[in-house]
Amino acid sequence: MSEARTYVVLLGVPGAGKGTQAKLLEQSTGLPQVSTGDIFRYNLKNQTELGKLAKSYMDKGDLVPDDVTIRMVEDRLQQPDCARGAIMDGFPRNLVQAAAFDKVTAPFGGVRVVPLINVEDDETIRRITGRRSCRTCGAVYHVTLNPPKVEGICDVDGGELYQRDDDKEETVRNRLFVYYKQTSPLIGYYFAKGVLAEVDGSRSINEVQQALMALMG
Ligand code: ADP
Ligand code: ADP
Repeated sequence: MSEARTYVVLLGVPGAGKGTQAKLLEQSTGLPQVSTGDIFRYNLKNQTELGKLAKSYMDKGDLVPDDVTIRMVEDRLQQPDCARGAIMDGFPRNLVQAAAFDKVTAPFGGVRVVPLINVEDDETIRRITGRRSCRTCGAVYHVTLNPPKVEGICDVDGGELYQRDDDKEETVRNRLFVYYKQTSPLIGYYFAKGVLAEVDGSRSINEVQQALMALMG
């Protein structure tokens, strides 16, 4: 086996707080956030072939095909900043992706811990419909629950805040449906491996962060 790495997989419904927490964990652990959603949005913005392919799926709230997604993640994990591991945000999202991820991580000790961030559906919808994202750095805010210092402007890099197209209520409902159908089986999958750890995601951003840090060991 090669030297062990720390791979953390954040699980939870859309809007649970995975991206918010992944960014905070990145700051406190130095492990990079690998967000498949952010990578797809970057490709969409730059109108790459990958972005054009992903668009129709993302617009509907469906999953982008596994072969494309898995290849994209494998490439990302080979970058030098992932040499100690990564905080996975939004990947894997179904059992095929989870099996592929096991293969990639097995030489480095496999997946270390899978925090499941639990939030009720109505709170999730409230969080997503008020979510605002930075166009340039991807930082995430909420109009009332986690507002920026200056309305419409990112605290981190001064970028413009916008509402994602797929954060409209009808797309959000399909994304929740896709989560329950395709992603929630990962809960049993990681439980059986002994790496699942449930976290109460209804608490403040700071409290959830403390709970996650305690799991990092
Ligand atoms: P995900 O990546 O799981 O889809 P995000 O991190 O983007 O979730 O969070 C969704 C929305 O909820 C954002 O607007 C974010 O600011 C807000 N949010 C995240 N965590 C909390 C929390 N603990 N309490 C209140 N609002 C939160
Ligand atoms: P959220 O955390 O709010 O669900 P993401 O930013 O993780 O949103 O994902 C946005 C969209 O990007 C998804 O609805 C899907 O179309 C696509 N996507 C992200 N990650 C994956 C993945 N692992 N597999 C397939 N599609 C993905």
